[in-house]
Amino acid sequence: MDEPHAVVVGGGIGGLSAALALHRRGWRVTVLERAPELREVGAGLTLMANALRALDALGLSPALRSSTHAEAPGGVRDRRGRWLSRVDAAEMIRQLGTSALGIHRATLHRLLREALPASSLHTGAEVEHVESETDHATVRYRGPDGPRTLDADLVVGADGLRSRLRAQLWPEIPAPVYAGSTTWRAAIAFPDPIPTAITWGPAAEFGMVPIGEGQLYWYAAITAPPGGHAPDELAAVRDHFGAWHEPIPALLAATPPGVVLRNDIHYLATPLPSYVRGRVALLGDAAHAMTPNLGQGAGQAIEDAVVLGAACAGGAKRLPAALAAYDEQRRPRSQSIARASLRAGRYGQQLRNPVALAVRAAALRLTPPSATLRSMTWCADWRPPTN
Ligand SMILES: Cc1cc2nc3c(=O)[nH]c(=O)nc-3n(C[C@H](O)[C@H](O)[C@H](O)COP(=O)(O)OP(=O)(O)OC[C@H]3O[C@@H](n4cnc5c(N)ncnc54)[C@H](O)[C@@H]3O)c2cc1C
Repeated sequence: MDEPHAVVVGGGIGGLSAALALHRRGWRVTVLERAPELREVGAGLTLMANALRALDALGLSPALRSSTHAEAPGGVRDRRGRWLSRVDAAEMIRQLGTSALGIHRATLHRLLREALPASSLHTGAEVEHVESETDHATVRYRGPDGPRTLDADLVVGADGLRSRLRAQLWPEIPAPVYAGSTTWRAAIAFPDPIPTAITWGPAAEFGMVPIGEGQLYWYAAITAPPGGHAPDELAAVRDHFGAWHEPIPALLAATPPGVVLRNDIHYLATPLPSYVRGRVALLGDAAHAMTPNLGQGAGQAIEDAVVLGAACAGGAKRLPAALAAYDEQRRPRSQSIARASLRAGRYGQQLRNPVALAVRAAALRLTPPSATLRSMTWCADWRPPTN
């Protein structure tokens, strides 16, 4: 039997995870990434139990454990530093089997990349058009040597928030919309022990996550009009958060100028009716770009990849049924997490009204820690397919 061939469009965390999942199931994979170099921009990530189990299923567990930081119990504080809610680490391990891990994005991206055959990765390759026929698909792209065409049994659209494949094959779906918040992020050297924690103020949030090897990832978000930029983004963060509780000022003081990334948050407000059209399957942000409030975007992309690999384990035979199974298993869960993440942002970072803030603080203080934990971790309670 001929080796089945998948073309993966996009070499982000979702695309590399999909390529690895299919490669481990006997597929020949070709990853086409438009950037001249395969690397991940961005700072850190929190990987909850679901993402860790999905990465286990991709065989990355041993490498991951040595490159991550098990999160110390933290919780939610107000801007003066008073705890509103504490995470019970032992209870989290009891509920989910593991604590969450913090990791540098570049580390996760490197681990995925290194697990794939180097010959499968193509950079400077921008996909322009995909044609899906009954029994195969054709991908047209512009590579370093000019236009090229590839035939594939399966095309995986992992081309992110502004997916060209989604726009081409799902033309009825409107472009992603602005969620109302802008974020800053940085990964810095900060060896002092610090718990993973978030702090809420009026229409603002600051989060900190140790990511191992003496490094820490912080992010800050405020409600703001889209398209804002400051000549010095670090100074802008200091303006908003510099008077909040320690260690926030210390983290900002330890941040070198020029490493701060700023992004407006966009998400897919119109859910896709299917993640599959013919021989093309979307995953990750291309399928369900969500706000980052539950820290689940990359986790969902990795889950997608593992489920797609398992569904396609039979090769190119009966691919329509395999892709239908992928859609059925992934769409309801990922779309419900996307909705919950949007709600979490409205109740969390975006809450501004002083009365609502006081009610939220009281509710958080009164809620038993196990119930608070459950409300934060329900989406992490996922296991990969067993086949
Ligand atoms: C502030 C912030 C914090 C976050 N925190 C977390 C967190 O803690 N935990 C978590 O799980 N998630 C988090 N996320 C979400 C997570 O970053 C994304 O969901 C995830 O990176 C999406 O991966 P992806 O591979 O689907 O898309 P992307 O990372 O966007 O990758 C898409 C790739 O496709 C390439 N591409 C695009 N078009 C083409 C084309 N035509 N041809 C070839 N290549 C193309 C791009 O260059 C890119 O490399 C956060 C997001 C933000 C904004």
